[in-house]
Amino acid sequence: MTLKVCKFGGTSMADGIAMSAVKKIIESDEKRKFIVVSAPGKRFNGDTKVTDLLYACYDELKEKGECKAAFQSVRKRFESIVKELNIEMDISSVLDETEERLVKENSSDFTASRGEYLSARIMAQLLGAKFIDSEDVVFFKADGQLDGEKTYKAISAAVAGAEKAVFPGFYGKDVKGKVKTFSRGGSDISGAIVARAVNASVYENWTDVSGFLACDPRIVDNPRKIKNLSYKELRELSYMGANVLHSESIFPVRKANIPIVIKNTFRPEDEGTAILPISQYKPDGNVVTGIAGKKNFTVILIEKSHMNSEIGFIRKVLSVLEREGVSIEHIPSGIDTMSVVVDSDEIEGYKLEQIIEGIKNDAEPDVIRVMENVALIATVGHGMSSSIGTSARLFNAMAAANINAKMIDQGSSELNIIVGVKNEDCEKCIAAIYHEFFG
Ligand code: ASP
Repeated sequence: MTLKVCKFGGTSMADGIAMSAVKKIIESDEKRKFIVVSAPGKRFNGDTKVTDLLYACYDELKEKGECKAAFQSVRKRFESIVKELNIEMDISSVLDETEERLVKENSSDFTASRGEYLSARIMAQLLGAKFIDSEDVVFFKADGQLDGEKTYKAISAAVAGAEKAVFPGFYGKDVKGKVKTFSRGGSDISGAIVARAVNASVYENWTDVSGFLACDPRIVDNPRKIKNLSYKELRELSYMGANVLHSESIFPVRKANIPIVIKNTFRPEDEGTAILPISQYKPDGNVVTGIAGKKNFTVILIEKSHMNSEIGFIRKVLSVLEREGVSIEHIPSGIDTMSVVVDSDEIEGYKLEQIIEGIKNDAEPDVIRVMENVALIATVGHGMSSSIGTSARLFNAMAAANINAKMIDQGSSELNIIVGVKNEDCEKCIAAIYHEFFG
């Protein structure tokens, strides 16, 4: 039988009503056998996600050696969920054990992971499904990367014979045997890992929106919905700020060609967005698929006469960033100029000064300048490579909106055009590009 892995995000787990909707969705399709859940998210505007409550617990724990006060809010959230669901479960004992273990483990990752752990315990009880603790089946290597081989084996062994199983998302175990989390939003990655391990026919990612939109709806009213995305387009858009799905989620499923479908828990009949390998991807005729932007980049601009003929110049510059442990986003270049674009968070404090000094010493440029507060905007779509005049349209739209492009980079696959603009022009630029391509 074909089987589906379903991941339910924070709003789908926010309270008893949402969890009941989740149960209905799972039970409406017998292929939905393996479930991955997030911690309860916000119930209303201004509410706090359980994961954030847990980070506050850890702050208290660090200070006082216990976290009674902060854990009280976590306790209340889970007790009220169990009450609303009206299930037989001694949640108080589970919460007591959890609080004890928080103190014993005394780690930020362990504390943060308990939202998913408790959510999954409740969901397993609600569905009458097997609970599989991710710390027993998801493993990280010493360098912090997922140990895929060991993880996939452990998951397929754990699900053997189970009619239905629920996994907590967001965490696994490191080489020292300690619980370790992915980065924020990482339950999406956990869902993809389970889908890969059980060789699912589809990975359904249930959230509170009916799929990807061509741009952020806070910038443009009612942007067009995207029906199909390729893995590559998804990666570009989610990396650049379209935050429906964690940008790392495609890696586990990509090798096995498992499609991801984004669905809305609160409008399950909506079609959603399918994210497909290129072999199954059906373009919907638009030149551009989507536009996304991210603020706060720093550009280091370097000039040196005859840079083009100085063998090893770029290597010298990049070695400085490598030495400082800074990852590079883009490297647009000219004959005698090159720029290095980095995430401003990566070079906080004295790091930027050290990088500048390093480049001056090692590469001896004529000029080195720094441009801060730059937003990068990615216009993405497979349709762009076969359509002449796309960049002309894009830059005309920016000119008409009176926006200066500080940097331009087109990927060699012609899948994207990235422009750098001032942070304050970010939204205006996304809107101008959207209106040009979508009317
Ligand atoms: N609960 C975690 C977070 O808030 C992970 C997730 O929801 O995917 O980031």
